[in-house]
Amino acid sequence: MAKKTTPMMEQYLAIKKQYPDAFLFYRLGDFYEMFYDDAVKGAQLLELTLTARNKQSKEKVPMCGVPHHAVQNYIDILVDQGYKVAICEQMEDPKLAKGMVKREVVQLITPGTLVDQTETNAKDNNYLTALHESQEAFGLAYVDLSTGELQVTHLSDLSAVVNELISLQTKEVVLDESVTAATKKQLKKLHVLQSSQLQVSDHAEVGFAIQGLTDQNELAAVKHLVSYLIVTQKRALTHLKRAVSYTPTAFLKLDHSAVTNLDLVKNSRTGKKAGTLLWLLDKTKTAMGGRVLHQWIRRPLLDAAAIRDRQERVTILLENFMERSALQEELTHVYDLERLVGRVALGNVNGRDLVQLRTSLEHIPQLRHVVTELDTGAFTTLLKDLDPVSDVTDLIHRAIVDDPPVTITDGGLIRPGYSKQLDEYTEAMTNGKQWIADLEQQEREATGINKLKIGFNRVFGYYIEVSRAHLDKVPQDRYHRKQTLVNAERFITPELKEKEQLILGAEDHDVALEHQLFMEIREQIKRAIPRLQRLAAAVAQLDVLQSFATVSEEGQFVRPTFDTQHQEMVIEQGWHPVIAKVIGTEEYVPNDVQLTRDAQILLITGPNMSGKSTYMRQVALTVIMAQMGCYVPAKKAQLPLFDQIFTRIGAADDLIAGNSTFMVEMQEANAALSNATANSLLLFDELGRGTATYDGMALAQAIIEYVHEHVHAKTLFSTHYHELTQLTAQLPHLKNVHVGAVERDGKLIFLHKVAPGPADKSYGIHVAKLAGMPAPLIKRANVILQQLEATADSKPADPVAATDEQLSLFVPETPPAPRPQKDPVTAPIVDELRQLNLMGMTPLDAMNLLYKWQQQLQGGGVDDKNS
Ligand code: ADP
Ligand code: MG
Repeated sequence: MAKKTTPMMEQYLAIKKQYPDAFLFYRLGDFYEMFYDDAVKGAQLLELTLTARNKQSKEKVPMCGVPHHAVQNYIDILVDQGYKVAICEQMEDPKLAKGMVKREVVQLITPGTLVDQTETNAKDNNYLTALHESQEAFGLAYVDLSTGELQVTHLSDLSAVVNELISLQTKEVVLDESVTAATKKQLKKLHVLQSSQLQVSDHAEVGFAIQGLTDQNELAAVKHLVSYLIVTQKRALTHLKRAVSYTPTAFLKLDHSAVTNLDLVKNSRTGKKAGTLLWLLDKTKTAMGGRVLHQWIRRPLLDAAAIRDRQERVTILLENFMERSALQEELTHVYDLERLVGRVALGNVNGRDLVQLRTSLEHIPQLRHVVTELDTGAFTTLLKDLDPVSDVTDLIHRAIVDDPPVTITDGGLIRPGYSKQLDEYTEAMTNGKQWIADLEQQEREATGINKLKIGFNRVFGYYIEVSRAHLDKVPQDRYHRKQTLVNAERFITPELKEKEQLILGAEDHDVALEHQLFMEIREQIKRAIPRLQRLAAAVAQLDVLQSFATVSEEGQFVRPTFDTQHQEMVIEQGWHPVIAKVIGTEEYVPNDVQLTRDAQILLITGPNMSGKSTYMRQVALTVIMAQMGCYVPAKKAQLPLFDQIFTRIGAADDLIAGNSTFMVEMQEANAALSNATANSLLLFDELGRGTATYDGMALAQAIIEYVHEHVHAKTLFSTHYHELTQLTAQLPHLKNVHVGAVERDGKLIFLHKVAPGPADKSYGIHVAKLAGMPAPLIKRANVILQQLEATADSKPADPVAATDEQLSLFVPETPPAPRPQKDPVTAPIVDELRQLNLMGMTPLDAMNLLYKWQQQLQGGGVDDKNS
């Protein structure tokens, strides 16, 4: 680094030292400049030209810059890639400054605090998360700076934390000194930016945010989170809400793998919204509604009464088409109240935002009216919050013109009649300008020069201009000469200068007063923020409910009932709503589902591509939709209330997403088995594919047995291990179902129909044929298959050593050979013999034992105690 630096570079370096992990955008006139390493890296990332300061000297300083009016663009690019940007402004007018201009960082913009200005992400939240760690638990808090939403929870283990972070799609996590290195290492795998906040700020916002919290871990997380906002934003955060403490177990738990595999909010193949449950359900008209829908998908309910509440309102909206249409119409006029309010609080609101706020509020009375018409009690709570906040509407209406400019510093904002003082300035300006127009006319007549004109520029102010050709017509001493151009001469008069002063003075005053008035209006609106936020929440909820009603009507969904007593699932003619929407409902083959006490685990077999995975996902989506309070895709649906959904997708399917390994699959399966309860739903899709056949099959069988004996969760288990279908002989709550296919002319036709019993044949080779593989190859495969089947039949050895069950890899066509049963009489004797410690026995002991065995074999039986 330079030994001898200029005062400016000294200032730069001093500031940069405080923000080592951020790009420092250093304001220099009309540009934000970057220096040293920031410049080198910034130039590359932002495609800027890298230049240098002190070009002549040996101590060249790399430098690049962006124009101030386009800075937002560049900030977005950097922050989007996970960097931070510190905005360093000139804190005084350089013209008035004595010595170095004072500069300060006014905001640190980070991925988690970026308040997006664009419309593209309107329906997404941007959550900044904070983590605190103690011996017993983690405190996890998150905030959306643009809306002020703040929530907190405590979690007992790191995997729950990871789950929550993924589900929130957080881009940045704030850590305090309590977080251990081990935790940080785990978090690193999530590719989330880790920021540190060691101190707790004493600002009022912190005290407000933590009101009502009692859990120490939650308190610590919220304190550090809000402190981080204060340190980075450096402005009031009036819109920040009090932290709401939530328990993830109060909602249907969807682990990360379920969220991904079920394509709830992001299509696992494309990463887009299209083809997801969110995409299917989203008929919301407002950005707020869109965000709440997203939140509801993330957290379906557990409480039957709360679900019925939502269902009830959906039903009312569904049955009253006219009112629903009216409601939708009103909603389309409501802008993003939450973010508008956020901008009022953060101080970056402009005149246009206020007009949007006003327009939105103007539609609330009508919205209220429609809901009142529909209300039979179901909407009472919601109606309470549908407050039109008319004082704010009135204020904006009186104060702000209908079409204000984007800037708030150049005037043109305030409506005439709002401020007497301002009106006077305006009049002075108009009068002055009229006077000048009159003067121009007057002078043309007096001099006879028709081309004479009065102009204005920033340097000379108002002037009278006469072209060279007419100069001789200007009477002596009529004007003072001011400026000579090539083709014209410019003059002034004392009166003109006097008027100019008046006009310019009024203009300056006008602009300053308008700005001041705007600030006052903003402060007044700030006082209404809590009411506006409650209104926004009510509107959002209404929007989601009408969206449910609309989707349910269009999709001909049915209102599900819940069997909380027996927890049984009976779905008649259900379908996968997303796939049906994509391929067309007529094309979709509906299917029944029965998961009952007798059929607690369904073992699903059938050829590749027959619809096993689709069937399982259909069940999960139906459950999620139902517990969100929406109708479900079926003719009739009675459902249990599930507490958790786990999905484990085998390696074969996961390869498409390109991320899972067999180890991960096993870890996830383990998490499911150890966390699931009898009220959980498990989806195991082709588990065991990622390892050797026997290995995988043994695991699959053991898992089924384990679920059957210990977990008792409702389970859908699809498999290509045909042998597993024989398990129904030992496991009374296991049922076989299969997805049908028929062969016609050597070709395979998928019926997509789920029927009782196991599939009767493996269709792999036919599928290969369907795929167009060369005929000789198919022929050869058939020969190999026959050979394999023959060997398997002639080899009775038990491949799965861990169990006593015989499992052959290939099942004979029909009927399956009865498997050798264990002899109940000899088996215990053989076992005993195996474990016998011969060397520790006397001859008499051995004799006695032999006698006992003989008795047992002859059917006599011997009391164990006598031996
Ligand atoms: P599997 O898991 O048995 O290999 P999938 O569930 O992946 O099969 O289904 C393969 C394809 O079959 C799906 O992409 C879908 O287009 C179609 N499909 C599945 N179930 C149905 C159904 N019930 N009706 C119509 N098409 C279906
Ligand atoms: Mg599949």
